[in-house]
Amino acid sequence: SHAYGFFGPKGIGKNRLVDFFVQALLCEKKDGIACGQCRNCVLFANDNHTDVYKVVKDPEEKNIGIEKMREMRERIYLAPSISDRNIAVICDAHSLSADAQNSILKVLEEPPKSAIIILIADFTDSLLPTLRSRLLNIRLAHISIGEMIACLEREYPGVSANSVKNAAHLASGKIDLARSLIADKTLLESAEKDYSKALLFLKSPKNERLKMLYDIFSKSMSFIEQQNSGIKFANSILAAAQWSVYEKLGINESPPAFKSDIKSTPNLAKMSKGLFELIQMMKRNIAPRLAFEQFIWNLN
Ligand SMILES: [Zn+2]
Repeated sequence: SHAYGFFGPKGIGKNRLVDFFVQALLCEKKDGIACGQCRNCVLFANDNHTDVYKVVKDPEEKNIGIEKMREMRERIYLAPSISDRNIAVICDAHSLSADAQNSILKVLEEPPKSAIIILIADFTDSLLPTLRSRLLNIRLAHISIGEMIACLEREYPGVSANSVKNAAHLASGKIDLARSLIADKTLLESAEKDYSKALLFLKSPKNERLKMLYDIFSKSMSFIEQQNSGIKFANSILAAAQWSVYEKLGINESPPAFKSDIKSTPNLAKMSKGLFELIQMMKRNIAPRLAFEQFIWNLN
């Protein structure tokens, strides 16, 4: 039971990607990629799968209102009829009215067991932070990592291919950040270290995670330093968690040094949500170390 947000500029193929994703979820072969042959795959491909409920904005309406969300909620509480899932896809989610968004907060927080809710939006400014924090966010950049690497290799002919790849990855598709990482070797090394720590955190059991906090929050740090260190680490974990999902969905490859090989997305979904809340708490001056410990305890 989870909720996903696929975000990115108009026209980069979000709907098509979501279609691949949904078909793979429905496929009877259950191996992460739709077989295209089974009953579920065929019904979905013919736009005829009764366990999939799509919401789109009417061209004559100015937004998607509360009524459409009420219908969606009623639908996903029904038992699935063909597959073992009940999937709601809200296209044009950037057009959801504030009331409509508020009306689905509860179901996003605790969707029925068989339900998966997917929001697709061109931009996120119109979405409430409380709504966004309930989603596993999958951000699709206008420029692919591959294109970004090609572009950076042209700009920095003297820099090793590995450094360029790592910088592009660590910058999560933000090309300006990648440029500053390439230009400053110390910064790149420190970002690589943070990211490796974050990957280790993702793979570690609870007691190891708690031990890592000694390193993140040393005794000699002031409150502000602890706050900054905690927020930085939480952001690294968030980036590593999201990349693991991209890897799993086959959206982007990670460079060899940063392969996560983490198998299950549900845990990552829960983790992303917890991290958003953790970062908000640390920004609100709650004791960073305590907040982090609480976050780790809440993970399992
Ligand atoms: Zn199939």
